[in-house]
Amino acid sequence: MPRLKIVDEPSVEDDAEERSTPGDVDDVPVDAHAAPVDADDVPVDHDDDDDDEDLTVGPDELSIDETPFDVDELRVPRDEEEPARRARLGDWLIAHGFVSSADVESALVEQRVTGEALGGLLVARGVVDEEELSRALAGIFDLPYRDLVESPPDPDAIRRLPQSFCRRRVVLPVAFDGTNLLVAISDPADVLTLDDAQVVAGTQVDAVIASPAQLRVALDQAFTSGSPVYISPDTSTADSGDDGVDPASKSDAHVAGFVENLLDRAVSERASDVHIEPSERGLRFRMRVDGVLHDALDLSPSVPTGVVNRIKILAGLDIAEHRRPQDGRMSFTSSGRPIDARIATLPTSHGESLTLRLLDRDHGLLNIDRLGFEADALQRLRQAYGRPWGLILAVGPTGSGKSTTIYSILTEINSPSRNVVTVEDPVEYDIPGIKQTQVHAKIGYTFAAGLRAILRADPDVIVVGEIRDAETAHTAAKAALTGHLVLSTLHANDAATAIARLLEMSLEPYLVASSLTGVVAQRLVRRLCPNCKVAYKPEDDERMTIASMMPDVAAQALPEDVTLYGPAGCARCDHTGYYGRSAVYEVMVVTARIRTLVLEQASATQIEEAAVAEGMQRLRENGIDKVPAGTTSFAELTRCIA
Ligand SMILES: [Zn+2]
Repeated sequence: MPRLKIVDEPSVEDDAEERSTPGDVDDVPVDAHAAPVDADDVPVDHDDDDDDEDLTVGPDELSIDETPFDVDELRVPRDEEEPARRARLGDWLIAHGFVSSADVESALVEQRVTGEALGGLLVARGVVDEEELSRALAGIFDLPYRDLVESPPDPDAIRRLPQSFCRRRVVLPVAFDGTNLLVAISDPADVLTLDDAQVVAGTQVDAVIASPAQLRVALDQAFTSGSPVYISPDTSTADSGDDGVDPASKSDAHVAGFVENLLDRAVSERASDVHIEPSERGLRFRMRVDGVLHDALDLSPSVPTGVVNRIKILAGLDIAEHRRPQDGRMSFTSSGRPIDARIATLPTSHGESLTLRLLDRDHGLLNIDRLGFEADALQRLRQAYGRPWGLILAVGPTGSGKSTTIYSILTEINSPSRNVVTVEDPVEYDIPGIKQTQVHAKIGYTFAAGLRAILRADPDVIVVGEIRDAETAHTAAKAALTGHLVLSTLHANDAATAIARLLEMSLEPYLVASSLTGVVAQRLVRRLCPNCKVAYKPEDDERMTIASMMPDVAAQALPEDVTLYGPAGCARCDHTGYYGRSAVYEVMVVTARIRTLVLEQASATQIEEAAVAEGMQRLRENGIDKVPAGTTSFAELTRCIA
């Protein structure tokens, strides 16, 4: 069985640190103090390193199906003819005559300056080629190296893993002997992919190392010339061994293990949502990471009901009911962290689909300082919510992080001396010390009804999940005027348009002008993965486009030699090139000048201009600032601010 329990293992962040890219071998500790070694010299012993003990791995522990290897547990080649040695990348390359100790010393000097991976530096300097580096990694991890040109993959083996999985995770099955699947991978430290391959294939998986270039070519060849049909573990013969286990319970265990692994993977990849969608071709899994949906994997039609039912059971839903939507909750632990999930089912023409929204309780510590606001904007915002009364709105489209901003403000102002009551749809984070209620339309508990009820409960601070109708807007504005601090969200593109939206909901201009104190308009852009982002010199037209979007074109035009950054993709960011998100925003404080304009029913443009004159940085300008800074890419920014 694959390793499925990851409870009590390192946290996601540690885990992410451990995964590295194919070329990224700096995870392999390199002893900078290592004395130059002669190839025929005896054991390279790294004197006093405190991690030395961990580096000794007995040969009997080398089988990957039992102990998925860890980066810290470097396999030591125990060649019969050579003395046992504790090889590390530089030493290994020296010892095998690929590089001189001077090459390594000089690359290490550069590494101290640039922080780049030793392997990558040696390749860039032309001292070793990619293939030699892959051979070195194979040697260090004590895994076989496979030349995919000389030994091309066996088509029967390729069928053991789905194309989407292989392409996404950059792995390729090369041989299958009936029990063990041999999978080519270029990053021996990518344990997660090997674990997942084991679950998806339903067989034992062993790794061979191939060079990244050869692997990519082999992947293209494997899946372009008459794509192989993926055989799921349930239809293959791999699982039909006579081991005396009841086939039904074996299948149950397989499904339970699969679901557990799926949840762990969703958490470790920082997914906010998991979508499980049936189609005539089987079951499709997608995950939303940093706001963007990605294909995770496809399963053949034989597995679906088991997986869907398993999750329904965990969420306390009725598994006999599949024609009506249901929702429920479940809790589980992943890497020692408690995770809550909301599950919603939806009957579709191909069967029941499931959506899991993962709520990491650790993230309940929402801190407004971490959302990406610059000091100046944050100070203006704090001024607005620092008053005991008034309406503060966070606006933007769905998924722009506006409720996160509201929760963060709430976390900051929450104190035992204040009675904080919310009406939400749904309650996303449990915040200690406040009364949270959830909209329940069926029994008439709407935002408007909730708000009326809250006002009878002597509140100081009121949170209304969203203002989307005239009644809620009126009640919220009046509450703000009568000594309550009201926080809410609204669908609007920018801060000035939010005022127009309130007026459209037939709020009188005087009510808007006197109740509204501040508006944050925002989007979330994905941050470039710091581990793999690539610098480039933009073409003239891209440079001009960016410059034209900047606040003062003449003064701020991008210099011709400006460096921008783009996504590359590595194991840490799951090959997306992005890791985490940052807010792009504008903060409008409703000043006397803006109040007058609202009363005069000025246009959104006039209001925006007044706000800018009073120091507001426009959302678009705030975003464009983050491009030369390398926080995000221009492509990502334009995706979010269209
Ligand atoms: Zn990356």
